[in-house]
Amino acid sequence: MTTLTPFELHSATSVAEATGLLAELGDEAVIYSGGTELLLLMKLGFAEPAHLVDVKRIPELQRLDAEGGTLVIGGAVTHRAIERSPLVRAGWPALVEMERRVANVRVRNVGSLGGNLAFADPHSDPATFLLAAEATLLLGMGGARRSVAMADFVRGPYETALEPGELIVEIRVPALGAGAAMTHVKFSFHERPAATIACLVRGDAGHIAEARIAVGSVGAVPVRVPEAERDLVGADLALAEDAVVHAAGALAAAAAEPEEDANGSAEYKRDLVSVLVGRCLRETAARAAAATA
Ligand SMILES: Cc1cc2nc3c(=O)[nH]c(=O)nc-3n(C[C@H](O)[C@H](O)[C@H](O)COP(=O)(O)OP(=O)(O)OC[C@H]3O[C@@H](n4cnc5c(N)ncnc54)[C@H](O)[C@@H]3O)c2cc1C
Repeated sequence: MTTLTPFELHSATSVAEATGLLAELGDEAVIYSGGTELLLLMKLGFAEPAHLVDVKRIPELQRLDAEGGTLVIGGAVTHRAIERSPLVRAGWPALVEMERRVANVRVRNVGSLGGNLAFADPHSDPATFLLAAEATLLLGMGGARRSVAMADFVRGPYETALEPGELIVEIRVPALGAGAAMTHVKFSFHERPAATIACLVRGDAGHIAEARIAVGSVGAVPVRVPEAERDLVGADLALAEDAVVHAAGALAAAAAEPEEDANGSAEYKRDLVSVLVGRCLRETAARAAAATA
């Protein structure tokens, strides 16, 4: 039978209270949101914190609304709440598409977006999607707030730009903009993704005006593929030429720096990324074409 070492649970109602508790309790305390990662670590004996600081009752971390066209998601909002939100469905349908594929409904019901990003498991669907969406994170400690681009947030496996005792207060996702569409493509053998891809295409007068490709779960961190993104600008929005799509897939496979693990060899993952990027780009271009029609 698995037993947890005893701990004290503190329920904070403001960012200042939570970060004050973390400062006061030091290394003995950790942030607790849905607990899907944290309690697993504790059950496995990899973490034995004496204090858990619950952030779920902090109103700022439960926001789910739009501000000037930008979607604002509080750090403790669950995957399920995002997936079911009419606001998100209307303005950010690909985000719903991605969230619906995270884990299983039990994990999504309690697991939060902030918890997923803060944990920085290399097999994260949201980290990859939000990189392509050019999201920003609002981090907070006491009354101070700072904004960090998603591109600068994940520093390595399980490593982020968070300072000790700092919270993810909000995740801000920009509006897609006219003629733009996003797609999320995922492939998994086990519970977490073996490969996760997100693309954005903006069409203008039948051509690609902007392209973004993010690849995650195959290497240490999610990456963008700037060379392929630049090469795609000006291409026919119908993406009729296979060579254009194949070239983008090959560049993405190289940029992702796949590593061998339980999901397969590096070579296998390069092929996987190349195929999935092609699929993602074609679908996104078709969606962008429909959005500009
Ligand atoms: C069976 C299973 C399958 C999964 N499959 C997938 C999948 O397919 N795709 C995918 O992307 N993910 C997957 N996950 C990961 C899942 O998305 C995360 O477990 C979940 O989102 C974590 O959120 P949480 O609120 O439970 O975090 P917690 O477990 O509460 O916290 C996780 C870590 O983040 C810290 N933390 C939590 N909230 C904050 C905050 N607001 N600010 C700063 N630090 C914070 C905690 O201190 C802890 O270190 C899976 C997990 C499980 C258990």
